[in-house]
Amino acid sequence: MKKILEIKNLTTQFEMEDYLIKAVDEVDLTLHSEETLGIAGESGCGKSVLSLSIMGLLPMPPGKITQGEILYQGENLLTYKPERMRTIGGKEIAMIFQEPMTSLNPLLKTGEQIAEALIQHKDMDKHQAWEKTIELLDSAGIPGARERAQEYPFQFSGGMRQRVMIAMAIACDPRVLIADEPTTALDVTIQSQILRLLDSLKQKINSSLLFITHDMAVMAGFADRIIVLYAGKVMENASVTDLFKNPLHPYTQGLLKCIPLLGENKYNDRGKIRYLHSIKGNLPDPRHFPKGCPFEPRCPFAMGRCQEAVPPLLLVEKAHEVRCYLHE
Ligand code: SF4
Repeated sequence: MKKILEIKNLTTQFEMEDYLIKAVDEVDLTLHSEETLGIAGESGCGKSVLSLSIMGLLPMPPGKITQGEILYQGENLLTYKPERMRTIGGKEIAMIFQEPMTSLNPLLKTGEQIAEALIQHKDMDKHQAWEKTIELLDSAGIPGARERAQEYPFQFSGGMRQRVMIAMAIACDPRVLIADEPTTALDVTIQSQILRLLDSLKQKINSSLLFITHDMAVMAGFADRIIVLYAGKVMENASVTDLFKNPLHPYTQGLLKCIPLLGENKYNDRGKIRYLHSIKGNLPDPRHFPKGCPFEPRCPFAMGRCQEAVPPLLLVEKAHEVRCYLHE
């Protein structure tokens, strides 16, 4: 499969007055054409900063990309001037955000917001852009698209607003779609409708998808390959089948245990109360990451050497990489 987006050794940090936070730390990843690549991990592990770095939307300062390359169809986006980057963002690479209400302009009709992208990137006149907008809203499953295009974002429910965001993202037939927790703010039934819609539209426009979520259950049915991030580092990289059948990193194993299973009864030490599994402890303080493996303070298999140095990311099976001393 052809490589469409390749990230090499990317480090993004935030330089604050008294301290420095490495949000993305020497990350490598490859997105192939028409592939869905999942990026998984807890809140604060660097998923969103990674996507903002790709889109060129990082607030700078305090954000700064200190090393690495973001290769889109072989060209390093980090060498592009802002004007050139604006011709890529939204047209070649488009993003669907977690909370559509903060991403849509509350003062503009939804249809106008989509038409604007078409006029800017597709050289359409107002009439052509409006007709295409109706078509896009319709394909995103919005009933009465012609009338609803005249309405403002506050007149839409959360699920319908996310459909508008998806229509806007696919307006220019982007080669890469980045969806950052697109269903987190929605209830479960709407979640599955939005995921099905995203998948069918991605296939329709032959796009590749970078799908970011903390929800491993959603990932299972959606991604082709998964990268697990922790403290800004890639901890495991495998096909969805390998990752779920044979998770190698203790952090991945913990994430998978957190998926609630229907009918499974679990009880705490007192024998009565039903509980869900959780990974003990919290992400380390990003101002003071441990010298060794960042997962060491929470890891049930930690050994002495885990405190000494960060383990390397090793290829342990065909197309299955893991960063853990247990698999050297
Ligand atoms: Fe646990 Fe050590 Fe592996 Fe880190 S390197 S995940 S601390 S066993």
